[in-house]
Amino acid sequence: MVNITEIKPKVKMNIPMASPDITQIEIDAVTDVLQTRWLSIGPKIKQFETDFSYYVGTRYAVGVNSGTSGLHLAMIAAGVSEGDEVITPSFSFIASANCILYERAKPVFVDIDPRTGNITPETIEAAITPRTKAIIPVHVFGQPPDLDPIMDIARRHNLYVIEDSCEAIGAEYKGRAAGTIGDAAVFAFYPNKQMTTGEGGMVVTDRADWDDLFRSLRNQGRDVFDGWLNHTRLGYNYRLDELSAALGIVQLTRLDDLLAKRAQVAGWYNERFDELPGVHKPFIADTTTRMSWFVYVVRFEDGPTRNAMIPFLKERGVPSRPYFTPIHLQPFYQNMGWGRGDLPETEKAGDTSLALPFSSVMTEEQVDYVCQQIRDGLEEMLR
Ligand SMILES: *Cc1c(COP(=O)(O)O)cnc(C)c1O
Repeated sequence: MVNITEIKPKVKMNIPMASPDITQIEIDAVTDVLQTRWLSIGPKIKQFETDFSYYVGTRYAVGVNSGTSGLHLAMIAAGVSEGDEVITPSFSFIASANCILYERAKPVFVDIDPRTGNITPETIEAAITPRTKAIIPVHVFGQPPDLDPIMDIARRHNLYVIEDSCEAIGAEYKGRAAGTIGDAAVFAFYPNKQMTTGEGGMVVTDRADWDDLFRSLRNQGRDVFDGWLNHTRLGYNYRLDELSAALGIVQLTRLDDLLAKRAQVAGWYNERFDELPGVHKPFIADTTTRMSWFVYVVRFEDGPTRNAMIPFLKERGVPSRPYFTPIHLQPFYQNMGWGRGDLPETEKAGDTSLALPFSSVMTEEQVDYVCQQIRDGLEEMLR
């Protein structure tokens, strides 16, 4: 049990929202690439893919230039096209639904378990129609959804499952790694993620035909056996460059350490919020045998409290973000017909959740300072 420090620091701290964790090893690895002739399509991406598939435990891994690109390619592999429906949560990052629109199909948003923020087998089952083609379970904040019953539903209805594992590298569901359960899965390496390549992503699968397809699609539709300018299908430039891949190789060797440091920071927050009524800590389900802490998100009692907390914290040097703002409430989704009232649990979570500063390099003093400000904010609001 840890009490929030009673003696307030005299100085205001300025705490970053997130920070990449880069050491001299990463700097040297990227510098080495710059001293070769291979800045793209070279040996580094090959090694990164091999190392990554070994870490996650899938047969294949294909590097791409973002998680969003990876999700798009997975939609194409699943044959998603105009007239199809794809089930996805609205309580996610916008790419989990945009990838469906890229192929002119319809996102079908389903509500969440309010404790974890994840979609549930029940909400998915209720949303299936003859047009449903695929399901995108998102591992929200680094925690896998209840994937066994979701896979059962998918198999019964002949649907593809594409795991959006962009927030969940290293997470485990009942002892199985996130990304190994669906037909394919996508990871992302933006600088606020658990490991980074600057921009970057990875699509993983056990299917050899999809591995070939992803390699072709990311490289302008060239078939893997094609010559330089033989374009078999409509493709994209979704390639991951060698500098990013070199950074990824090193970050991956450090990943278990980075995840342990993030778990420690989450633990510091948890201990303090145990003592603070009015703040709901993240809930970890029994099926989550390993949490991969992406962000640290708390929930307040109501929307007005959460909204008032943001400027209060900002003034004291503590950035925070509503997280997530539901996708179906984003302006251009509302223009397509969705609106408030469609997904009650998602909207409640969107109204009351707040992501706090979080990274592997955060110190216990910084966590303590953030928690003090939140306590002060709650006290002031009750006055
Ligand atoms: C980060 C993230 C992505 C992909 O993001 P990119 O910035 O394109 O790499 C996709 N889905 C979720 C849920 C994410 O958090």
